[in-house]
Amino acid sequence: MKVLVPVKRVVDYNVKVRVKSDHTGVDIANVKMSMNPFDEIAVEEAVRLKEKGAAAEIVAVSCGVAQCQETLRTAMAIGADRGILVQSDAELQPLAVAKLLKALVDKEQPGLVVLGKQAIDDDANQTGQMLAALLDWPQATNASRVEVQGDRVQVTREVDGGLETLSLALPAVITTDLRLNEPRYVTLPNIMKAKKKPLDTVTPESLGVDVAPRLKTLKVAEPPSRAAGVIVPDVATLVDKLKNEAKVV
Ligand code: AMP
Repeated sequence: MKVLVPVKRVVDYNVKVRVKSDHTGVDIANVKMSMNPFDEIAVEEAVRLKEKGAAAEIVAVSCGVAQCQETLRTAMAIGADRGILVQSDAELQPLAVAKLLKALVDKEQPGLVVLGKQAIDDDANQTGQMLAALLDWPQATNASRVEVQGDRVQVTREVDGGLETLSLALPAVITTDLRLNEPRYVTLPNIMKAKKKPLDTVTPESLGVDVAPRLKTLKVAEPPSRAAGVIVPDVATLVDKLKNEAKVV
């Protein structure tokens, strides 16, 4: 079985992003970029499936600017066999990415697509679900355990108050939750090996996909900064402040 893993290049999770002065977005010039953490988990899970003999080939896909090649090389250093870059300088919103992935799924015919549950830049949590809808495939989101059994896959999800286990017919779409696994450390020999793995570049036009944005960002703003706290001398003062200043009791 072939597994397709979409990996997004995002601002590194350690970076404190700054809103641009014209409020049109966040400043990503000269900022460290990395693979979306949930996608690293998706690649790791695909590699584990391959190690268990449930997957034969892992194809990593990234949609975006030329530098997404670095993200694909990271995926290949974790263990993906090859990479596909859908190169575009346009702003790619979840629906456009889902359409690009659908076109690649039609071409590559994977048995499983494993995406992150959400990208930490747009926090959309939409691409996997949209892809499953476009393909009309079964989907299981926020997976915390994945087990392939013959022509089905069992997916456990953490839901309010417990665990839910779904059994999906393959081919299927899965999105990963944080607790699915802990991605392996990428070693230098594997980084070197990844440089030699095949990386194809295609364009949205060659896949016949119109990636024009459907949504318009009106304004991006910092959350209001919190007012400093005060230490109250006793309970009576606290109650007085809650009643008369905060007016919450
Ligand atoms: P989102 O719906 O934007 O929160 O993204 C959910 C998941 O879709 C990510 O974790 C990735 O697996 C995949 N994805 C989103 N955008 C891209 C992209 N530009 N290239 C590759 N994969 C993507």
